[in-house]
Amino acid sequence: MSQPLIALVTGANKGLGFETSRQLAQKGIKVLMGARDLKKGEDAAASLRALDLDIAFIHLDVTNTGQITHVAKYIEGTFGKLDILVNNAGMRHPQESLFGPSVETLPIRAVMETFDVNFFGAVELTQALLPLIKKSAAGRIVNISSILGSLTLHSDEQAGLQDFKPFAYDASKTALNQFTVHLAASLKNTNIKVNSAHPGWVRTDMGTDQAPMAVAEGAKTAVMLATLGPEGPTGKFLHFEEEIPW
Ligand code: NAP
Repeated sequence: MSQPLIALVTGANKGLGFETSRQLAQKGIKVLMGARDLKKGEDAAASLRALDLDIAFIHLDVTNTGQITHVAKYIEGTFGKLDILVNNAGMRHPQESLFGPSVETLPIRAVMETFDVNFFGAVELTQALLPLIKKSAAGRIVNISSILGSLTLHSDEQAGLQDFKPFAYDASKTALNQFTVHLAASLKNTNIKVNSAHPGWVRTDMGTDQAPMAVAEGAKTAVMLATLGPEGPTGKFLHFEEEIPW
């Protein structure tokens, strides 16, 4: 019997990470649900195992280098490869609102803390896991970005983003998009595909209850990119099938 596909989803204890884990596991993929809080992560994983899904919990704060190293060793020792990495863990700093504007006043510490999770965490984790993803027959890396990371749309006054200006969050997602482009270029002669996903504006703790989209819909772009076939895109920024300008 062939080995099942193995996926790691970060920030999986709630919101889009939880739902992405559920949808991937429903496709028969073994999902390692990463969470920085032991109890929340174990409870989330147990709730999906109760649905008979193939789920394991992994303790992972993406800003913790020691935990990243440990997770890479664990996956190597247990599975010998990783097929899917969904860099979903993310935050908008409590000192900035979804609507901003915060660029003139946000303390630099808050900017740095936002980048620690949304950018540096994703880069460090991906680099640590890349040797294992290279052992997959068809590695897929999905960086959960946001339309708010689009420089093109932010600089177009007609694009509808004039009331959404959380500076640190937006800049961290722009940087994450650059990681997608560079990594996809670097891996272009491999079986690995790397893409950025915009989930939509989704009703989660981060998205707020003002968001129009349900979480089950919001997870679909990540799941689609995590399960792309060999003809699928790489180095793109997508919301469902629609390409978002960088
Ligand atoms: P959420 O409900 O607030 O969930 C965020 C998740 O990230 C939580 O599990 C949180 O864990 C985790 N996390 C935060 N810092 C972490 C760290 N250092 N290490 C590991 N996990 C960490 O938000 P969401 O809406 O599901 O967001 C998921 C992703 O989608 C984020 O990258 C976000 O930027 C992106 N996104 C969301 C929307 C939207 O409308 N909701 C739109 C565009 C993009 P704790 O529970 O421990 O805090």
